[in-house]
Amino acid sequence: MSNDWKPRTKAVHMGSRRSQYNEVSEAMFLTQGFIYDSAEQAEARFQSLTDDEFIYARYGNPTVRMFEDRIAGMLGYEDCFACTSGMAAVSGALTALLKAGDHVVAARALFGSCLYVLEDILGRFGVEVTLIDGTDNAAWDAAIRPDTRMVFFESISNPTLEVVDMRHVVNAAHAVGALVLADDAMATPVFSYARECGADIAIISTTKHVDGQGRLLGGAICGSKELVRGPIEAYMKHTGGAMNPFTAWTHLKALETIDLRVRAQADAALQLAQALDGHPMLSAVRYPTHPSHPQHELALTQAPSAGTVLAIEVKGGKEACFKFLNALEIVSISNNFADAKSIATHPATTTHQRLPQDQKDTLGISPGLVRLSAGLEDVSDLIADLKQALDRAG
Ligand SMILES: *Cc1c(COP(=O)(O)O)cnc(C)c1O
Repeated sequence: MSNDWKPRTKAVHMGSRRSQYNEVSEAMFLTQGFIYDSAEQAEARFQSLTDDEFIYARYGNPTVRMFEDRIAGMLGYEDCFACTSGMAAVSGALTALLKAGDHVVAARALFGSCLYVLEDILGRFGVEVTLIDGTDNAAWDAAIRPDTRMVFFESISNPTLEVVDMRHVVNAAHAVGALVLADDAMATPVFSYARECGADIAIISTTKHVDGQGRLLGGAICGSKELVRGPIEAYMKHTGGAMNPFTAWTHLKALETIDLRVRAQADAALQLAQALDGHPMLSAVRYPTHPSHPQHELALTQAPSAGTVLAIEVKGGKEACFKFLNALEIVSISNNFADAKSIATHPATTTHQRLPQDQKDTLGISPGLVRLSAGLEDVSDLIADLKQALDRAG
């Protein structure tokens, strides 16, 4: 029955496990271990575990399991392993599923730490990685080979908001038997289309929209039971990347409101794009489902909304851009996104500072580029703040 619920209902109820007290709010089981009734029971649990048995929190915990079932249900996947951070999820999934000699094709427009894992770490262990322009279907077709084992991309890229044609890439990958891993952080759990488009695994940084209030780091690897409770769980439980119960409990409470929050923030992001489009101080406004985005038709075929983040390009380079940022009164300068508080980020000098200039140029991370994360403030206040700051930059 719970599998037939709509995502919004799943976000409130799915995966609940009640103790003997029948509590309303999910319990936080802040425990590392579990006591056995007998030596025989301990022996049996170390042989095999049923769904409701636990032995050690690095392997699993009731509160964490509630969160795993709930987020997997929302995204439409069979199962999930919850991790200490989004990067623990990305690096864990990649390392669990790859071996020396494997070939991976990935979109070049990736979060900096993902690029490090792919190029530096996997390269050291003999995995061959081909980086391509993720918006170019012909480039995917050309790069995917009969021996390609995996393709990896961000459904919507951070910070330039490029969109991958997920159905096309999934078909090309599955034609050669490669697994598809989508880093789904920007698409948001509410508007995620990874499952619908056939991605084998969706990885989310739950630090972003799941927490949504700037508190805790977390990550989730969602996929089939076979992959998640097979190679992924084996790798994660032995290498120590399991989410802690406090984070899982906070995330469970946050999932109760995620649908309301993300819809309001996504609506605000689109309204900001509409209000700023054509502003004389801006050379570009980018939000995937807004008509000014070069891929907006593709974006709309994949999801009704493109999430809570937009990008703008301020005219006048770094100097004008810094004047704009420093003039903001409500929007904070920071480097996270998906927070209830609106945030402006200057990728060229912060999150992507270390990227060589030619790579910044290829990815479109210009001195005027600002990533804006729409929060839960009144949208008219946000528009007024951004406009007054642009006036002062000009
Ligand atoms: C934030 C982010 C990550 C990393 O998540 P953490 O929780 O910070 O480890 C990975 N990929 C994308 C696209 C992100 O936005």
